[in-house]
Amino acid sequence: MVKEIEINSESEMIALGKRIGGLLERNMVIALTGDLGAGKTTLTKGIGQALEVKTTINSPTFTILKIHSGTMPLYHMDVYRINPESGDDYLEEYFEKDGVAVVEWAENIAYLLPDSLLKIDIKNLGGTKRLVVLSATDPKYGKIIESVIK
Ligand code: ADP
Ligand code: MG
Repeated sequence: MVKEIEINSESEMIALGKRIGGLLERNMVIALTGDLGAGKTTLTKGIGQALEVKTTINSPTFTILKIHSGTMPLYHMDVYRINPESGDDYLEEYFEKDGVAVVEWAENIAYLLPDSLLKIDIKNLGGTKRLVVLSATDPKYGKIIESVIK
């Protein structure tokens, strides 16, 4: 299942995150890819809103993992600076720790990610336009994609 949606503003990106966040269940994993400034953290803010997270979600440049409490825990990872030698296998446990894991720069820990996940790639189309491509092989994520993008 692959679907894409064009987003025209930052607030639309947050709204998209909120819609996705509202459909997430415990132990779901979201793998975000896209260049710096694409909107990965912005989308995560929307997901956090849906989970009623009250703490600030930002790009944790030097912090690999930030844990936010909400209706369920939000494990927000930014693995921009990770590499397989730096011994960060501990991140794996957060994919099944009864919360939702959102991973920015997910391609950098492809070796740790579960097979079943919701992949979201964001492309900057210039200005405030973004192309968001959602894809999944597992039907449980496919259903989310279908309800988010009609
Ligand atoms: P990333 O985490 O991918 O590096 P951020 O979400 O931190 O990206 O930053 C995105 C930047 O682009 C922010 O400064 C935001 O204000 C700006 N922006 C402009 N238009 C959009 C949009 N449609 N969606 C998301 N961010 C946008
Ligand atoms: Mg970011």
